[in-house]
Amino acid sequence: MHRFTADEEHLSQVLAQLCLDRLAMQAPLDRPRTPEELEKRAGQTVTAAGIGHAEATRVWSEVLGPACLSVDNPRYLSFIPSAPTKAAAAFDMLVGATSMYSGSWLEGGGAVYAENQALRWLADLAGLPAQAGGAFVQGGTIGNLSALVAARESALHRRGTRPARWAVCITEQTHSSVEHALRIVMDVDVVVVPGDARGRMTGTALRDTVAGLDETTRDGIFAVVATAGTTNLGIVDDIAGVGDVAREHGWWLHVDGAYGGAGLAAPSVRPLFAGTEHADSFIVDPHKWLFAPFDSCALIYRDPVQARAAHTQHASYLDPVNVEGEWNPSDFAIQLTRRARGLPFWFSLAVHGTAAYADAIERTIAVARAGAEVIRSREHVRLLLEPELSVVVFERVGWEAGDYARWSSRILDEQVGFVTPTKHQGRVCTRFAIVNPETTVADLELLVDSMADPLG
Ligand SMILES: *Cc1c(COP(=O)(O)O)cnc(C)c1O
Repeated sequence: MHRFTADEEHLSQVLAQLCLDRLAMQAPLDRPRTPEELEKRAGQTVTAAGIGHAEATRVWSEVLGPACLSVDNPRYLSFIPSAPTKAAAAFDMLVGATSMYSGSWLEGGGAVYAENQALRWLADLAGLPAQAGGAFVQGGTIGNLSALVAARESALHRRGTRPARWAVCITEQTHSSVEHALRIVMDVDVVVVPGDARGRMTGTALRDTVAGLDETTRDGIFAVVATAGTTNLGIVDDIAGVGDVAREHGWWLHVDGAYGGAGLAAPSVRPLFAGTEHADSFIVDPHKWLFAPFDSCALIYRDPVQARAAHTQHASYLDPVNVEGEWNPSDFAIQLTRRARGLPFWFSLAVHGTAAYADAIERTIAVARAGAEVIRSREHVRLLLEPELSVVVFERVGWEAGDYARWSSRILDEQVGFVTPTKHQGRVCTRFAIVNPETTVADLELLVDSMADPLG
């Protein structure tokens, strides 16, 4: 199994060719299958004797692979898609072929050096100071959790005592991973600040909400989470206003830009992010709007020393790793072993340059704006919110939840697109989330017009 025999060479060539083919083609959307269907077609694949590489490859490419949606298809516009550059996707293969432990500088210094340059670009975009830094982690969920744990540890260190209950200010639009981290993982209370007409947290609303709390709850607040691009609507909170209030109270400001943070690179929307330079921690997922494959989150702290105090793991066998002055990614997050999750992003950034990223992000924003125009120009649909970034939220006049669900499964069955229903202000509607520079206005027109058809 570990020798590169003629068999292994053949197998590697077959898989490398499959990778090349996949990079070369516009992948079909494909569709989900039930466990029963897969059971019937793939059967039992793990056996004592093994099914051999030819059969394993066949089962994957004919049955199991096509049962996974192609998130990079330009008409995959649900949730937040992903659209890796060819350079990033190809380099990910090399990361996979290279047995690299990237939790520590000792073992993965070359990878960490490269990743840190990519982090630096992001920190500069955010306006964070020279000492800012962190690590690439699995995704926004781990990034948010790690940042909030560091925030609490820093508050505990400063105060010296724990309040009756810890609390963090969020809004209804804050990503579910934040509330999950706080309530379930950390056992921290949430203070929900009402959003403005667009669902944004503003400094004023935060100040008013906190003023209305009882003394004990207020005393427990240690952080506020501002969202730089909400997942459902693509709306950026009033980060500057929220940051002012955080500084008045000595709270940690965490900016969750998992999806929208990429907008910092786009001149036309950059002003929306004013105040991010005051963040104590900031995340952005390269696997969302920065054209990297799954899974990757850039987690950056204003003062990495505070993150280390919370996250460095101590064990006698780790002493050779915990060397003063070395940059160990495991010091900054809830994880020890780590794949070099920032490397595909770094490679593509190094190859193409940051200007190409700014252009590609602007292109998706322009398509979103043009999509809003398409919707405005049609009678059967109504734009519900002017897009701020690259999410377009709209409704089909006269449709109920069931109509959206039928339309959504029909267009996927016909391999026309993948667009799922959502809710805005209690009403069922739908949205286009556009992160793929290959998505065109014509794609959006086709989908909008498919909603005009009577539903069979
Ligand atoms: C997607 C998203 C997350 C969660 O990130 P994962 O990478 O899916 O773990 C957190 N916050 C926001 C705003 C997001 O859009």
